[in-house]
Amino acid sequence: MSIKDYEFWFVVGSQFLYGPEVLETVAKRAQEMTDKLNASGNLPCKIVYKVTAKTNAEITNVIRDANHDEKCAGIITWCHTFSPSKMWINGLANLQKPWCHFATQYNREIPNEEIDMDFMNLNQAAHGDREHGFIGARLRAARKIIAGFWQDEDVQKRLGKWQRAAVGAEFSKKLKVMRFGDNMREVAVTEGDKVEVQIKLGWQVNTWPVGKLVDVMNKVTDEEIDALMNEYKSLYEFATDDIETVRYQAREEIAMKKMLDREGCKAFSNTFQDLYGMKQLPGLASQHLMATGYGYGGEGDWKVSAMTAIIKFMTEGKKGGTAFMEDYTYHLVEGNEYSLGAHMLEVCPSVAAAKPRIEVHPLGIGDREPPARLVFEGHEGKAVVVSLVDMGGRLRLICQDIHCVKPIMPMPNLPVARVMWQAMPNLKTGLECWILAGGAHHSVLSYDVDAEQMKDWARIMDIEFVHIDKDTTPEKLEHDLFLSDIAWRLNN
Ligand code: MN
Repeated sequence: MSIKDYEFWFVVGSQFLYGPEVLETVAKRAQEMTDKLNASGNLPCKIVYKVTAKTNAEITNVIRDANHDEKCAGIITWCHTFSPSKMWINGLANLQKPWCHFATQYNREIPNEEIDMDFMNLNQAAHGDREHGFIGARLRAARKIIAGFWQDEDVQKRLGKWQRAAVGAEFSKKLKVMRFGDNMREVAVTEGDKVEVQIKLGWQVNTWPVGKLVDVMNKVTDEEIDALMNEYKSLYEFATDDIETVRYQAREEIAMKKMLDREGCKAFSNTFQDLYGMKQLPGLASQHLMATGYGYGGEGDWKVSAMTAIIKFMTEGKKGGTAFMEDYTYHLVEGNEYSLGAHMLEVCPSVAAAKPRIEVHPLGIGDREPPARLVFEGHEGKAVVVSLVDMGGRLRLICQDIHCVKPIMPMPNLPVARVMWQAMPNLKTGLECWILAGGAHHSVLSYDVDAEQMKDWARIMDIEFVHIDKDTTPEKLEHDLFLSDIAWRLNN
């Protein structure tokens, strides 16, 4: 499915009190707003106006339908007039889709000369949305609240960003992750409770033997490899004469893709400790699969793989890029401090500043032939790094704001893709906060989402969210984490 296949249902609250004329006007305006929002170009998914709701039954029915509709990724509610909220309880108590309360108003201005009691009866969102807000709070319902004039670009863009988070939640509920082998021996942060994750996030995380992958690799034909080599040639610069090594990566990629597609998996993990029967650790193969939308995690890190797939799906059509990432090393020169992110091989070329080069170099780890990989620099720009960790009994999503720069040195002997960034609020404090929260060395680096969207996603999934930004201090964060830990223990 594409993000464009999803839709959001617009449910407008009212009641019978004002007579049929007012209700007709509300319905007409709701349709007009829907059409204009859809035409704005600021929403990735279309809105469908469903009903001007006046009764408990209408609301219950539309929410039941929304729950069961595959294409519906959420509901957007708004109260043009006053809509008594007890009639929303039965529906909202059973809502299983993401919910946005859009606190807007049909008219931008108060019309000085025209305003009278008829106008007041029709245009009372300020009043109705407060009643609507109360019942959301009373139900402890996870909902996004967006306030502002519906024709303003910034308001539309926030609605569009929330749509992406909501679609990410729908994608998550159906996500299947293919593990080739287990995670790296003795590593803690790549472990996790897969049953808990499936209950909370929907992920079906299962393992397939590497020997099975080798079987599929052995059946890949030369014609299939030729076709993929042509694709590599159109996208990447060949900085190697070792064509057989590149063709071997193509063979691995084709085989992995066949297995992923056969099982309906959109994310995968592998580990250099389990490559039995394979001549090379997949490098270019994993990188190019990621560039086409699959999630990946190294060393068996299925959590980061799934998060990479989700963020890639949420950001479909955006151009900044999203990659599996690992914090590698620091530049600790006072006032000029940077993190260098890279991986053994597998950084997604969607974040590249220029055309990636295919190179072949030996790999110090893994006891295999030198693999082909894509080498490039990440581009400059605002981004986030995201890490999902299992705290034992619950999941925590950590999101840090970063600013990526053009790497300040060429590092000609570093044979892998690299991204350099400044963490917020600065390297030292940002690092202390990340470590305090338990953030992993693996993360998803994305230029195409922001912390608000990741928070929206975490709220929908009902998991803990931690944001490290320009204002975060270790003292404040430690206090927040302490309280949060108690709250989540009570809650679960
Ligand atoms: Mn790693």
